[in-house]
Amino acid sequence: MSFSNFGLDARLQKSVALLGFEQPTPIQAATIPVALTGQDILGSAETGTGKTAAYLIPVIQKMLAQNTPAQVAPHSLRVLVLVPTRELALQVAEQAQALVKHTDLRVAAIYGGVGMVNQEQQLKRRTDIIIATPGRLQDHMSRGYASFKDLQVLVLDEADRMLDVGFLPAIRRIVRELPRERQTMLFSATLVAEILSLASEVTRKPARIAVEKTVTPQAIEQTLFTVPEHQKTEALHKLLADNEMESVLVFARTKHRADKIVKHLKKANIRADVIHGNRSQNQRVAALEAFRAGKARVLVATDIAARGIDVEGISHVVNYDMPMQAEDYVHRIGRTGRAQAVGSAYTLVTPLDEAQVKKIERILSQKLPRRRIEGIDPNALALNQPDAEAIRRYVEAQRQRKPAMASR
Ligand code: AMP
Repeated sequence: MSFSNFGLDARLQKSVALLGFEQPTPIQAATIPVALTGQDILGSAETGTGKTAAYLIPVIQKMLAQNTPAQVAPHSLRVLVLVPTRELALQVAEQAQALVKHTDLRVAAIYGGVGMVNQEQQLKRRTDIIIATPGRLQDHMSRGYASFKDLQVLVLDEADRMLDVGFLPAIRRIVRELPRERQTMLFSATLVAEILSLASEVTRKPARIAVEKTVTPQAIEQTLFTVPEHQKTEALHKLLADNEMESVLVFARTKHRADKIVKHLKKANIRADVIHGNRSQNQRVAALEAFRAGKARVLVATDIAARGIDVEGISHVVNYDMPMQAEDYVHRIGRTGRAQAVGSAYTLVTPLDEAQVKKIERILSQKLPRRRIEGIDPNALALNQPDAEAIRRYVEAQRQRKPAMASR
């Protein structure tokens, strides 16, 4: 199977080749021919499978095929892609830009956290493909800047993530404004009940397409390190002493913990940056760019901020904190080992995480190997959290007592 089998417009075929895509990935092979017929699609596919191009290629092909003035007003808003995060909006837009490079089609990304004016201008310029986060798009719609009367295709990308972050009401309001006669493609990593219900609202007789991730977790070297909670930062420093850890994505449970880790790393002269929900759009873009360009060796992220991150050449993923949802483990470690490269995923495990480890091993159908970190004593695990807290209070109480004794 090759891209030439799809009978793509020569301009699009050229862009696909320039992107270095030689063969369609399984989701592309399954989606592109169906999408070209105009049928709705309900796809279950994760980031890393090539799902972005799986919907962009057919929509661009269809626009090129009808791009004659007699058929359609030039540059009318014909395709809307809704995504959960600004990062994903930028990444999808980047790929769309690359695919339309040899055509006169226009692409714009619309997302929150930046000024409205530039985006208003892009909307007024009559853009062909809009990639938007639902909240910001709604703002523009309420001001009358986005007209969807010519819309032909709606794509909901990472629909499960959009529901996770509470975009369902915004999606519903947007969909109400769209023409009923349209093609709808919905992609989601999981097809849970809420997604199926949304799909029944927005799609008509969709073709169901499911693919496995091309980078299987099995292709990633996974290791668990048992460490006591209070020695996690030390453990991370020790792991980072390995120079082979060139480009490391570290996951932390909270924004506060992410900030703390970066502070420690910087103190130790390790080039590190952080992305999480409290950082401005400019800070996030700058952090991602620094990481991509190799200026930051370590990028610390929370789960939500990390969604949609697609940076090639991440050598290691480190779960400083175990994910709250066992399913997110697979999502996180999939950030390394992309494009057939072998990556490594390290997870710091405290006694409180053991139940979660079991869940993850069940999902992966494999037992994950454990290793020790030189200088970190797993026996310190005997001190579980409540004990450690009791000892801290005892030591503190002793300290408080000293001056009193001295003054006697
Ligand atoms: P996605 O799942 O859309 O986030 O894509 C994951 C990565 O795979 C991106 O870096 C794409 O550029 C890349 N990719 C998508 N399709 C292909 C293909 N047919 N061949 C090689 N790489 C691809």
